[in-house]
Amino acid sequence: MNHHRKLSLFVFLLLPVLAFAQVKPAASFRIVPLGVLGGADESNLSAYMLAPKGSDSYICLDAGTIHTGIAKAIAAHSFSITAEQVLKKYIKGYFISHAHLDHVAGLIMNSPDDSTKNIYGLQSTLQTIKTHYFTWDNWANFADNGEVPQLKKYHYKTLEPGVETGIENTGMQVKVFPLSHANLTSTAFLVRSKDSYVLYLGDTGADEIEKSQNLHNLWAAVAPLVKARKLKAIMIEVSFPNEQPDKSLFGHLTPRLLMNEMAVLGKLTGASLKGLNIVVTHLKPPYKSIVMIKTQLKAANKLQLNLIYPQQGKALEL
Ligand SMILES: [Zn+2]
Ligand SMILES: [Zn+2]
Repeated sequence: MNHHRKLSLFVFLLLPVLAFAQVKPAASFRIVPLGVLGGADESNLSAYMLAPKGSDSYICLDAGTIHTGIAKAIAAHSFSITAEQVLKKYIKGYFISHAHLDHVAGLIMNSPDDSTKNIYGLQSTLQTIKTHYFTWDNWANFADNGEVPQLKKYHYKTLEPGVETGIENTGMQVKVFPLSHANLTSTAFLVRSKDSYVLYLGDTGADEIEKSQNLHNLWAAVAPLVKARKLKAIMIEVSFPNEQPDKSLFGHLTPRLLMNEMAVLGKLTGASLKGLNIVVTHLKPPYKSIVMIKTQLKAANKLQLNLIYPQQGKALEL
């Protein structure tokens, strides 16, 4: 066989591989969900470990359930080290979207066994943790700020909206955006690793219900990243089925409200959102409601988003 034919045969064999690689780009992030639900089941509340793919330097986005989540992740072979090492060595910092108990309980309960690290969040969120959780009446003050004596295990790092901040010991960066969550300000974290991004939203209501511009502003900020295919996933809550009355949403989304928001993102992006990874978080039990949420999202998915339902302990690569 001459040189040319060898080469063309090689290219021919490689073509399907190249085509496949174009459809499915290489993963940039690894997410290990430690808890995925929105209420009642204290063994499975919002907490997501996130690292650049190939790295063991994770952040933990919200911290509702830590202990059970790590045990489930080890059982599912998502980690091959001990639970103690995952907690102490792999988690380099916590990012708390807001101080509702279902987003911080795991952090508080596991604090005696944890290693020194940062807790990142908006000023208002960190203030509540400081004055309501890490106090000597409620627990013990494991932080280096607030009531004395201070055990100085955790350091509060206040994040300013719109400013990109380096995340210590991870090589990642973060930018925060405020979200409207009934009476509270919640937070969206836009995490960057090199030229790839993941957007994690804490609990949020829809702009139309909350009489807010927060989600619109967030979609405007990330639209260029979506268009350039640099945003690998949006992790966003859907707490209730469509049947939940507006007055009982308490700052949460339904399938209808999520899809309305995605339509706004689509418009701002000016391109198809087909295949965009949407990791659906914070589904509230009972089981019957969760089934309804999934059915309603599937039926309303005209944008052909790639809807992903994370499972506790099972790693996702995106
Ligand atoms: Zn919540
Ligand atoms: Zn909440």
